[in-house]
Amino acid sequence: MMIIMNIDATKQQIAAVVTRIEANGFKAHLSQGEERTVIGVVGNNPLNTREQFTHLPGIDRIVPISRPYKIASRELIPQNTVFPLDGVQIGGDEVMIIAGPCAVESRSQLIETAYAVKEAGAQALRGGAYKPRSSPYAFQGLGEEGLEILAEARQLTRLPVITEVMAPEMVPLVARYADVLQIGARNMQNFALLHAVGECMHPVLLKRGNAATLEELLMAAEYILSHGNRRVILCERGIRTFETSTRNTTDINAIPVLKALTHLPVILDPSHSTGRWELVTPIARAAVAAGADGLIVEVHMDPENALSDGEQSLKPERFAELVRQVRSIAQAIGRC
Ligand code: PEP
Ligand code: MN
Repeated sequence: MMIIMNIDATKQQIAAVVTRIEANGFKAHLSQGEERTVIGVVGNNPLNTREQFTHLPGIDRIVPISRPYKIASRELIPQNTVFPLDGVQIGGDEVMIIAGPCAVESRSQLIETAYAVKEAGAQALRGGAYKPRSSPYAFQGLGEEGLEILAEARQLTRLPVITEVMAPEMVPLVARYADVLQIGARNMQNFALLHAVGECMHPVLLKRGNAATLEELLMAAEYILSHGNRRVILCERGIRTFETSTRNTTDINAIPVLKALTHLPVILDPSHSTGRWELVTPIARAAVAAGADGLIVEVHMDPENALSDGEQSLKPERFAELVRQVRSIAQAIGRC
Protein backbone atom coordinates (compact mmCIF):
# COMPACT_ATOMS: atom_id res chain seq x y z
CA MET A 1 0.00 0.00 0.00
CA MET A 2 0.95 3.66 -0.31
CA ILE A 3 0.68 6.25 2.39
CA ILE A 4 0.06 9.62 0.81
CA MET A 5 1.12 12.42 3.12
CA ASN A 6 -0.56 15.81 3.37
CA ILE A 7 0.95 18.61 1.28
CA ASP A 8 2.11 20.34 4.48
CA ALA A 9 3.28 17.19 6.31
CA THR A 10 6.36 17.92 8.40
CA LYS A 11 9.65 16.00 8.34
CA GLN A 12 8.86 14.70 11.82
CA GLN A 13 5.47 13.36 10.69
CA ILE A 14 7.10 11.59 7.74
CA ALA A 15 9.78 10.14 10.03
CA ALA A 16 7.11 8.90 12.46
CA VAL A 17 5.32 7.06 9.64
CA VAL A 18 8.60 5.49 8.47
CA THR A 19 9.38 4.37 12.04
CA ARG A 20 5.94 2.78 12.34
CA ILE A 21 6.33 1.00 8.98
CA GLU A 22 9.67 -0.47 10.02
CA ALA A 23 8.36 -1.42 13.46
CA ASN A 24 5.70 -3.47 11.64
CA GLY A 25 8.33 -5.42 9.73
CA PHE A 26 7.93 -3.61 6.41
CA LYS A 27 10.31 -1.49 4.38
CA ALA A 28 9.44 2.14 3.69
CA HIS A 29 10.03 3.52 0.24
CA LEU A 30 9.93 7.31 0.11
CA SER A 31 8.97 9.02 -3.08
CA GLN A 32 9.30 12.79 -2.94
CA GLY A 33 6.84 14.25 -5.44
CA GLU A 34 6.69 17.93 -6.38
CA GLU A 35 3.80 18.50 -4.01
CA ARG A 36 3.86 15.75 -1.44
CA THR A 37 5.63 12.70 -0.12
CA VAL A 38 4.30 9.25 -0.90
CA ILE A 39 5.55 6.39 1.26
CA GLY A 40 5.41 2.88 -0.17
CA VAL A 41 4.92 0.14 2.40
CA VAL A 42 6.62 -2.93 0.96
CA GLY A 43 7.37 -6.32 2.40
CA ASN A 44 5.86 -9.66 3.14
CA ASN A 45 4.27 -9.15 6.51
CA PRO A 46 0.85 -10.77 5.93
CA LEU A 47 -0.92 -8.71 8.60
CA ASN A 48 -3.14 -5.99 7.29
CA THR A 49 -1.63 -3.07 9.11
CA ARG A 50 -3.58 -0.24 7.54
CA GLU A 51 -5.16 0.45 10.92
CA GLN A 52 -1.71 0.92 12.44
CA PHE A 53 -1.29 4.12 10.48
CA THR A 54 -4.69 5.75 10.17
CA HIS A 55 -4.35 7.79 13.36
CA LEU A 56 -0.81 9.09 12.68
CA PRO A 57 -0.70 12.86 11.99
CA GLY A 58 0.18 14.21 8.55
CA ILE A 59 -1.42 11.41 6.51
CA ASP A 60 -3.87 12.35 3.78
CA ARG A 61 -4.92 8.84 2.70
CA ILE A 62 -3.81 5.24 2.38
CA VAL A 63 -4.32 3.45 -0.93
CA PRO A 64 -3.40 -0.06 -2.06
CA ILE A 65 -0.88 -0.63 -4.88
CA SER A 66 -2.85 -2.78 -7.28
CA ARG A 67 0.14 -4.42 -9.03
CA PRO A 68 2.08 -7.34 -7.54
CA TYR A 69 5.32 -5.40 -8.11
CA LYS A 70 5.47 -2.33 -5.90
CA ILE A 71 8.72 -0.35 -6.12
CA ALA A 72 8.82 -0.97 -9.87
CA SER A 73 5.31 0.41 -10.38
CA ARG A 74 4.38 3.82 -11.72
CA GLU A 75 1.59 3.86 -9.17
CA LEU A 76 4.15 4.29 -6.40
CA ILE A 77 6.74 6.27 -8.39
CA PRO A 78 5.06 8.28 -11.17
CA GLN A 79 8.19 10.09 -12.40
CA ASN A 80 10.71 8.33 -14.71
CA THR A 81 13.81 6.87 -13.10
CA VAL A 82 16.73 8.70 -14.71
CA PHE A 83 20.37 8.11 -13.81
CA PRO A 84 23.70 8.89 -15.44
CA LEU A 85 25.93 6.38 -17.15
CA ASP A 86 29.00 8.50 -17.60
CA GLY A 87 27.78 11.47 -19.66
CA VAL A 88 24.39 10.07 -20.66
CA GLN A 89 21.20 10.22 -18.60
CA ILE A 90 19.54 6.86 -19.15
CA GLY A 91 15.75 7.16 -18.93
CA GLY A 92 15.90 10.87 -19.85
CA ASP A 93 15.47 12.57 -23.21
CA GLU A 94 18.51 10.99 -24.77
CA VAL A 95 18.31 7.57 -26.45
CA MET A 96 21.31 5.63 -25.17
CA ILE A 97 23.11 3.41 -27.67
CA ILE A 98 25.15 0.52 -26.32
CA ALA A 99 27.19 -1.55 -28.78
CA GLY A 100 29.93 -4.12 -29.02
CA PRO A 101 30.52 -7.74 -29.79
CA CYS A 102 28.46 -10.60 -28.42
CA ALA A 103 31.60 -11.97 -26.76
CA VAL A 104 35.06 -10.67 -25.93
CA GLU A 105 37.19 -12.92 -28.15
CA SER A 106 40.62 -11.33 -27.84
CA ARG A 107 42.27 -8.08 -26.79
CA SER A 108 42.73 -6.81 -30.34
CA GLN A 109 39.17 -7.74 -31.36
CA LEU A 110 37.60 -5.91 -28.43
CA ILE A 111 39.79 -2.80 -28.48
CA GLU A 112 39.34 -2.37 -32.23
CA THR A 113 35.56 -2.82 -31.93
CA ALA A 114 35.37 -0.46 -28.95
CA TYR A 115 37.06 2.34 -30.93
CA ALA A 116 34.87 1.60 -33.96
CA VAL A 117 31.55 1.72 -32.06
CA LYS A 118 32.62 4.86 -30.24
CA GLU A 119 33.51 6.52 -33.53
CA ALA A 120 30.08 5.50 -34.88
CA GLY A 121 28.29 7.13 -31.94
CA ALA A 122 27.87 4.43 -29.27
CA GLN A 123 27.79 5.71 -25.69
CA ALA A 124 28.58 2.42 -23.95
CA LEU A 125 30.40 -0.79 -24.77
CA ARG A 126 28.94 -4.28 -24.46
CA GLY A 127 30.79 -7.60 -24.57
CA GLY A 128 30.38 -10.91 -22.78
CA ALA A 129 33.24 -12.44 -20.81
CA TYR A 130 30.99 -15.20 -19.48
CA LYS A 131 28.66 -16.51 -22.17
CA PRO A 132 25.46 -18.47 -21.46
CA ARG A 133 25.59 -20.78 -24.51
CA SER A 134 22.92 -23.34 -25.38
CA SER A 135 25.66 -25.86 -26.18
CA PRO A 136 28.34 -26.79 -23.64
CA TYR A 137 30.70 -27.25 -26.63
CA ALA A 138 30.30 -23.66 -27.87
CA PHE A 139 32.70 -20.84 -26.91
CA GLN A 140 32.01 -20.03 -23.25
CA GLY A 141 33.86 -16.71 -23.04
CA LEU A 142 37.31 -15.69 -21.82
CA GLY A 143 36.24 -15.31 -18.19
CA GLU A 144 38.32 -12.96 -16.05
CA GLU A 145 40.73 -12.32 -18.90
CA GLY A 146 37.74 -10.99 -20.86
CA LEU A 147 36.85 -8.69 -17.96
CA GLU A 148 40.40 -7.33 -17.90
CA ILE A 149 40.21 -6.60 -21.62
CA LEU A 150 36.86 -4.82 -21.15
CA ALA A 151 38.37 -2.67 -18.39
CA GLU A 152 41.28 -1.76 -20.65
CA ALA A 153 38.86 -0.83 -23.45
CA ARG A 154 37.02 1.44 -21.03
CA GLN A 155 40.25 3.13 -20.05
CA LEU A 156 41.22 3.69 -23.68
CA THR A 157 37.84 4.78 -25.05
CA ARG A 158 36.15 6.15 -21.89
CA LEU A 159 33.04 4.13 -22.77
CA PRO A 160 31.27 2.59 -19.77
CA VAL A 161 31.22 -1.21 -19.93
CA ILE A 162 28.24 -3.56 -19.73
CA THR A 163 28.84 -7.26 -19.27
CA GLU A 164 26.92 -10.32 -18.15
CA VAL A 165 27.15 -11.96 -14.75
CA MET A 166 25.77 -15.49 -14.57
CA ALA A 167 26.05 -16.56 -10.94
CA PRO A 168 25.63 -14.85 -7.54
CA GLU A 169 29.15 -15.71 -6.40
CA MET A 170 30.56 -14.00 -9.52
CA VAL A 171 28.94 -10.62 -8.77
CA PRO A 172 31.85 -9.10 -6.77
CA LEU A 173 34.37 -10.12 -9.45
CA VAL A 174 32.35 -8.82 -12.41
CA ALA A 175 31.48 -5.63 -10.50
CA ARG A 176 35.21 -4.91 -10.05
CA TYR A 177 35.56 -4.51 -13.82
CA ALA A 178 32.14 -3.52 -15.18
CA ASP A 179 30.04 -0.35 -14.94
CA VAL A 180 26.71 -2.13 -15.54
CA LEU A 181 25.88 -5.76 -14.70
CA GLN A 182 23.83 -7.60 -17.31
CA ILE A 183 21.41 -10.32 -16.28
CA GLY A 184 20.79 -12.45 -19.36
CA ALA A 185 17.45 -13.74 -20.57
CA ARG A 186 18.24 -17.24 -19.31
CA ASN A 187 18.81 -15.91 -15.81
CA MET A 188 15.88 -13.51 -15.55
CA GLN A 189 14.34 -15.66 -12.83
CA ASN A 190 17.56 -16.74 -11.14
CA PHE A 191 16.39 -15.30 -7.85
CA ALA A 192 19.68 -15.83 -6.01
CA LEU A 193 21.41 -13.82 -8.74
CA LEU A 194 18.74 -11.09 -8.64
CA HIS A 195 19.22 -10.90 -4.87
CA ALA A 196 23.00 -10.60 -5.27
CA VAL A 197 22.85 -7.79 -7.84
CA GLY A 198 20.17 -6.13 -5.73
CA GLU A 199 22.71 -5.78 -2.95
CA CYS A 200 25.41 -4.54 -5.30
CA MET A 201 25.30 -0.84 -6.11
CA HIS A 202 26.08 -1.15 -9.82
CA PRO A 203 23.29 -0.41 -12.31
CA VAL A 204 21.72 -3.60 -13.67
CA LEU A 205 20.56 -4.34 -17.21
CA LEU A 206 17.81 -6.94 -16.80
CA LYS A 207 16.90 -8.84 -19.97
CA ARG A 208 13.46 -10.35 -20.45
CA GLY A 209 13.38 -14.15 -20.42
CA ASN A 210 12.43 -15.54 -23.82
CA ALA A 211 9.17 -16.94 -22.44
CA ALA A 212 8.55 -14.42 -19.68
CA THR A 213 5.51 -12.18 -19.45
CA LEU A 214 6.02 -8.50 -18.78
CA GLU A 215 4.64 -9.01 -15.30
CA GLU A 216 7.27 -11.68 -14.67
CA LEU A 217 9.95 -9.29 -15.94
CA LEU A 218 8.71 -6.60 -13.58
CA MET A 219 8.60 -9.06 -10.68
CA ALA A 220 12.22 -9.95 -11.45
CA ALA A 221 13.05 -6.21 -11.38
CA GLU A 222 11.21 -5.97 -8.06
CA TYR A 223 13.61 -8.55 -6.59
CA ILE A 224 16.53 -6.26 -7.44
CA LEU A 225 14.79 -3.08 -6.31
CA SER A 226 13.60 -4.61 -3.04
CA HIS A 227 17.17 -5.46 -2.10
CA GLY A 228 18.11 -1.81 -2.33
CA ASN A 229 19.43 -1.34 -5.84
CA ARG A 230 17.26 1.24 -7.60
CA ARG A 231 19.22 1.49 -10.84
CA VAL A 232 17.60 -1.14 -13.05
CA ILE A 233 17.26 -0.94 -16.85
CA LEU A 234 14.77 -3.31 -18.49
CA CYS A 235 15.58 -4.87 -21.85
CA GLU A 236 13.21 -6.43 -24.37
CA ARG A 237 15.22 -8.98 -26.38
CA GLY A 238 12.57 -10.95 -28.24
CA ILE A 239 10.36 -13.79 -27.14
CA ARG A 240 9.78 -17.31 -28.38
CA THR A 241 6.69 -17.69 -30.56
CA PHE A 242 5.50 -20.12 -33.26
CA GLU A 243 7.29 -17.99 -35.89
CA THR A 244 10.51 -19.59 -37.08
CA SER A 245 11.75 -17.11 -39.68
CA THR A 246 13.53 -15.07 -37.04
CA ARG A 247 15.51 -16.24 -33.99
CA ASN A 248 12.96 -14.62 -31.65
CA THR A 249 9.96 -12.38 -32.16
CA THR A 250 10.47 -8.75 -31.19
CA ASP A 251 7.71 -7.68 -28.85
CA ILE A 252 7.56 -4.02 -29.83
CA ASN A 253 4.38 -3.70 -27.75
CA ALA A 254 6.51 -4.37 -24.68
CA ILE A 255 8.08 -0.91 -24.94
CA PRO A 256 5.00 1.29 -24.54
CA VAL A 257 3.37 -1.27 -22.22
CA LEU A 258 6.39 -1.27 -19.89
CA LYS A 259 6.74 2.51 -20.07
CA ALA A 260 3.14 2.78 -18.84
CA LEU A 261 3.54 0.22 -16.03
CA THR A 262 6.95 1.23 -14.70
CA HIS A 263 9.17 4.26 -14.22
CA LEU A 264 12.31 2.22 -15.04
CA PRO A 265 14.22 2.85 -18.30
CA VAL A 266 13.34 0.40 -21.10
CA ILE A 267 15.72 -0.49 -23.91
CA LEU A 268 15.59 -2.94 -26.82
CA ASP A 269 18.08 -5.47 -28.15
CA PRO A 270 17.39 -5.69 -31.91
CA SER A 271 20.19 -8.27 -32.36
CA HIS A 272 18.90 -11.13 -30.20
CA SER A 273 15.29 -10.26 -30.91
CA THR A 274 15.77 -10.87 -34.64
CA GLY A 275 18.88 -13.04 -34.97
CA ARG A 276 19.58 -11.62 -38.45
CA TRP A 277 21.83 -8.63 -39.09
CA GLU A 278 19.69 -7.29 -41.95
CA LEU A 279 16.72 -6.91 -39.59
CA VAL A 280 18.64 -5.15 -36.83
CA THR A 281 18.42 -1.58 -38.19
CA PRO A 282 14.69 -1.68 -39.09
CA ILE A 283 13.80 -3.07 -35.66
CA ALA A 284 16.09 -0.56 -33.93
CA ARG A 285 14.20 2.21 -35.74
CA ALA A 286 10.86 0.73 -34.66
CA ALA A 287 12.00 0.50 -31.04
CA VAL A 288 13.03 4.14 -30.85
CA ALA A 289 9.81 5.22 -32.59
CA ALA A 290 7.90 3.18 -29.97
CA GLY A 291 9.60 5.05 -27.12
CA ALA A 292 12.61 2.93 -26.15
CA ASP A 293 15.14 4.71 -23.93
CA GLY A 294 18.01 2.95 -25.64
CA LEU A 295 19.35 0.10 -27.73
CA ILE A 296 21.93 -2.62 -27.18
CA VAL A 297 23.39 -3.77 -30.49
CA GLU A 298 25.91 -6.47 -31.41
CA VAL A 299 28.75 -5.22 -33.63
CA HIS A 300 31.64 -7.29 -34.94
CA MET A 301 34.57 -6.35 -37.20
CA ASP A 302 34.36 -9.71 -38.98
CA PRO A 303 30.93 -11.27 -38.36
CA GLU A 304 31.60 -14.29 -40.63
CA ASN A 305 34.30 -15.42 -38.22
CA ALA A 306 32.71 -14.38 -34.93
CA LEU A 307 32.86 -16.94 -32.14
CA SER A 308 29.22 -16.25 -31.27
CA ASP A 309 26.20 -14.55 -32.86
CA GLY A 310 27.97 -13.49 -36.07
CA GLU A 311 24.74 -13.84 -38.08
CA GLN A 312 23.11 -11.05 -36.07
CA SER A 313 26.15 -8.78 -35.76
CA LEU A 314 26.51 -5.55 -37.72
CA LYS A 315 29.78 -4.41 -39.22
CA PRO A 316 30.83 -0.99 -37.88
CA GLU A 317 29.82 0.92 -41.07
CA ARG A 318 26.32 -0.53 -40.89
CA PHE A 319 26.16 0.25 -37.21
CA ALA A 320 27.14 3.87 -37.96
CA GLU A 321 24.21 4.04 -40.38
CA LEU A 322 21.89 2.60 -37.70
CA VAL A 323 23.01 5.35 -35.32
CA ARG A 324 22.31 8.06 -37.91
CA GLN A 325 18.83 6.73 -38.66
CA VAL A 326 17.91 6.18 -35.04
CA ARG A 327 19.08 9.68 -34.05
CA SER A 328 16.81 11.26 -36.68
CA ILE A 329 13.86 9.25 -35.40
CA ALA A 330 14.71 10.27 -31.84
CA GLN A 331 14.72 13.94 -32.91
CA ALA A 332 11.41 13.53 -34.74
CA ILE A 333 9.75 12.47 -31.49
CA GLY A 334 11.36 15.18 -29.38
CA ARG A 335 14.28 13.19 -28.04
CA CYS A 336 17.96 13.15 -28.91
C1 PEP B 1 23.80 -11.34 -24.91
O1 PEP B 1 23.44 -10.17 -24.70
O2 PEP B 1 24.87 -11.64 -25.46
C2 PEP B 1 22.88 -12.43 -24.57
C3 PEP B 1 23.34 -13.67 -24.34
O3 PEP B 1 21.59 -12.05 -24.57
P1 PEP B 1 20.27 -12.80 -24.06
O4 PEP B 1 20.51 -13.07 -22.60
O5 PEP B 1 19.20 -11.79 -24.31
O6 PEP B 1 20.11 -14.05 -24.87
MN1 MN C 1 24.87 -12.54 -28.33
